[in-house]
Amino acid sequence: MSGVAFDTCDVLVVGAGPAGMAAAVAAAPSGASVVVIDDNPAPGGQIWRDGPGASLPPVARQWREALARHANIRVRSGTRVVAAPASHELLLEDADGAMRMRWTKLILCTGARELLLPFPGWTLPGVTGAGGLQALIKAGLPVEGERIVIAGSGPLLLAAAATAIAAGAQVLRIAEQASFASVAAFGASLVRWPGKALQALTLADARYRTASRVLSAQGTAQVESVRLRQGDREVEMACDRIACGFGLTPNTQLGQLLGCALAGQAITVDALQATSVAGIYAAGECTGFGGSERALVQGTIAGHAAVGEVAKARTHDRERARWNAFAAQLHRRFALADDLSALPRPDTLVCRCEDVPFSALSACTGWTDAKLHRRCGMGACQGRVCGDAAQFLFGWTPPAPRPPLVPVRIETLAGLATPGDARQ
Ligand SMILES: Cc1cc2nc3c(=O)[nH]c(=O)nc-3n(C[C@H](O)[C@H](O)[C@H](O)COP(=O)(O)OP(=O)(O)OC[C@H]3O[C@@H](n4cnc5c(N)ncnc54)[C@H](O)[C@@H]3O)c2cc1C
Repeated sequence: MSGVAFDTCDVLVVGAGPAGMAAAVAAAPSGASVVVIDDNPAPGGQIWRDGPGASLPPVARQWREALARHANIRVRSGTRVVAAPASHELLLEDADGAMRMRWTKLILCTGARELLLPFPGWTLPGVTGAGGLQALIKAGLPVEGERIVIAGSGPLLLAAAATAIAAGAQVLRIAEQASFASVAAFGASLVRWPGKALQALTLADARYRTASRVLSAQGTAQVESVRLRQGDREVEMACDRIACGFGLTPNTQLGQLLGCALAGQAITVDALQATSVAGIYAAGECTGFGGSERALVQGTIAGHAAVGEVAKARTHDRERARWNAFAAQLHRRFALADDLSALPRPDTLVCRCEDVPFSALSACTGWTDAKLHRRCGMGACQGRVCGDAAQFLFGWTPPAPRPPLVPVRIETLAGLATPGDARQ
């Protein structure tokens, strides 16, 4: 028997990004007991990530204050979901220990992660994701005076560049793989979302190039230069850091572990944000990426629906449709070019945890073959990085999640072993 604590709530929200905060705030006036858990030290999710190098916009503070105003919302930051030990129960871990949390309704707001694609040199120190660079800067990484190249796809490149510039970095190039025509069409479509058009104007940058992509990073102990293809020509630039993000992939591991159906790479939801499993809802980028406004409105609908306020939930249908249309534009205009799968050379690592090169995978028949015979996805990230890359490169379905979802302490694992109801 373990010393794991037990707790209960009516509505458990996993993830305190825009979707999770909105879900909790919508559910709270019903009087239900609401618990919000998130592995970051403070609520805000990816877009409103706090830290010594972050400056939070007023809207982020307003949502935090809204959470704090409701006495029946308990926020547990620095807490991770580890497993689902029994029906209607999640096993949680924080700095102090483990806890089994029993819920009546569950709202998954687990967001998205960056898609990293392998290219020669991508494992050199100084190469990160674009959002990864943003997170590092907000956590206090000093980049003042550094020469940085940002590459990949989507509006996150511009947001990352703005964060780096505000921190005193010298951004040399922002290389977007989508064509000029695609990006121009996206820009023209923004008349339907004036707030986004304004944001695009504030982020516009003369160093932005379309039809451009990273080819390789060079360096010995640290990245020293980057090779880029810009249209028809290749250029090499000396730099201190490269940040590459190829869009976002929904975080569906917990949903999959709980049996929620997926459509493509995202959790399937109905008009009330309900998943295929009774009592479980999902909102925000775990249901497909599309920005914080979509996450907020989906979270609001899920929060109302989870406490039985269907009429209130339905009042947000039009707003959600508006942001779903924006998401559709993003997907269409920044779709990744197929030939990005030609970036790796035979010796380029695809699985950086287990040092598995591209050449070792090209003859594999699928994910299970690659995992069993090449150890791809068997390391610390458990396929979160190489699984997404392998899906893009080879069309393999990424690995099914297995508990524990993240590396945990032995005492936490003991929380799975309670006699009578342990499933794993
Ligand atoms: C690295 C990165 C940087 C981004 N930066 C920007 C930006 O600057 N501007 C912008 O407009 N958009 C940005 N985005 C897009 C942004 O994610 C969304 O627009 C918005 O934040 C989505 O809100 P959400 O609530 O769906 O998810 P998120 O904001 O991603 O929130 C999900 C939360 O769930 C937590 N979580 C997930 N799984 C677990 C678990 N098992 N246990 C505990 N907690 C868990 C995560 O830590 C996270 O805090 C970024 C995305 C990423 C991946």
